[in-house]
Amino acid sequence: EHYSNTLKLVTENNGGKYNKIESLTSKESVLDVFKKRIAEINVDSCQPGEEDAFYVADLGEVYRQHLRWKMNLARVKPFYAVKCNPDDEVLRLLAKLGTGFDCASQAEIEQVLKLGVDPARIIYAQPCKTKSYIRYAAKVGVKQMTFDNADELLKIKQFFPDAELVLRILTDDSASLCRLSAKFGASLDKTQELLDLAKNLGLNVTGVSFHVGSGASDPASFTKAVQDARVVFDQATSAGFNLQMLDVGGGFVDGSFETFASALTGALEEHFPPHIRVIAEPGRYYVANAFTMAANVIARRDVQDGLTGERAYMLYLNDGVYGNFSNIIFDHQHPSAQILDCRDPYQIPTDYSIWGPTCDGIDVITERCTLPGVLNVGDWLFFDEMGAYTRCSATRFNGFTNKHKVIYVSSEPGALALLKNEFGDLAVDSQLAASQAISGVKELLNGCICCNLVGQLSDALL
Ligand code: PLP
Repeated sequence: EHYSNTLKLVTENNGGKYNKIESLTSKESVLDVFKKRIAEINVDSCQPGEEDAFYVADLGEVYRQHLRWKMNLARVKPFYAVKCNPDDEVLRLLAKLGTGFDCASQAEIEQVLKLGVDPARIIYAQPCKTKSYIRYAAKVGVKQMTFDNADELLKIKQFFPDAELVLRILTDDSASLCRLSAKFGASLDKTQELLDLAKNLGLNVTGVSFHVGSGASDPASFTKAVQDARVVFDQATSAGFNLQMLDVGGGFVDGSFETFASALTGALEEHFPPHIRVIAEPGRYYVANAFTMAANVIARRDVQDGLTGERAYMLYLNDGVYGNFSNIIFDHQHPSAQILDCRDPYQIPTDYSIWGPTCDGIDVITERCTLPGVLNVGDWLFFDEMGAYTRCSATRFNGFTNKHKVIYVSSEPGALALLKNEFGDLAVDSQLAASQAISGVKELLNGCICCNLVGQLSDALL
């Protein structure tokens, strides 16, 4: 019954504290939400800002990713990497689902604590921290933090000697989109020295962490990093520590998640007994697909080829690489334009290059693409998979806004119920029970669980 009710709008206001969230039934409905919104905007007469690019965020997608994580990596507790997309509603949902949080700065820790999350559910996963931020972490009781060099140990000794320290080690991140190991991670020929220094300083080393690089593409990088972490656990024993925690970092991507999860599970079973607590810091995995963005065509240039007579256009959008398309520069992404609203009735394939609104020549979104129809000023394009490393790294260059409207929807009733606080604190435990039960029936269904079915099962079990 719930699912036959397409696009039922549920206004949730919680005393005006939270955003309104709409209930959806399928992925297509996200486009309905976009269309409804742009139908309200007359780009010829609207106020400045009203025609700005905007997002639709499907929180049901985040919820499904969490259940998928529980089904495939039950041993590993996710600590969502806030930096990837510090959206309030995403954090609120994840807090309800019981995840931890990986924070990289004081501001991120503050944002998570404001949700009422216990400081023990936060890891300050930045091996080179600002002194005043360490003092802040000590004040608010965020004890878990990473380090990878001797100076960091001296700082921590001075400002937070009771911290629970996690030694970040170097990995082979050559098969990842965004490499991190040139900047962070102690090599295995330095780790013993660091552990001995920590012992001499009277500090408390409790675990090892690594990150195989964001957007990893080779599961072997996890296997090797887990093996290396085992070596460091043994070094720590010889330095007089009894490590209890392994942090396998982020790097998980939607398409290859099951393959990575199975490689990781195998390596963990081989090298770490069950009493070792394992956490991870996934970012992109949770949010990449949850956010879709629309941008408006603000200008157009005809670039008809003088020789062949072929028609092509340069389109200028009201968002670019200095804004939400910052993922093109920083995250090596190639967002793909699709038509949301085009007034041309003839859908003839037409070539375009697509540009951002700033004066800079590098502000290009797509150098060449073909779309069905001749787009004009005022028409709209949309882009899928815009949830990771987009809004968080948008600038105000050239005076354009970096605060874009987000319309929140949920294609999973379970996510909506959690956000509406229908289940209170019970929700977290029930959710886990639900996901365990789901993994039980998974085999029976021969791996053919569809997303909505997962949602229905968990709702039923809640
Ligand atoms: N943890 C740390 C320390 C990171 O630096 C990052 C990304 O840069 C992440 C987690 C999240 O990585 P991903 O989004 O690939 O899961």
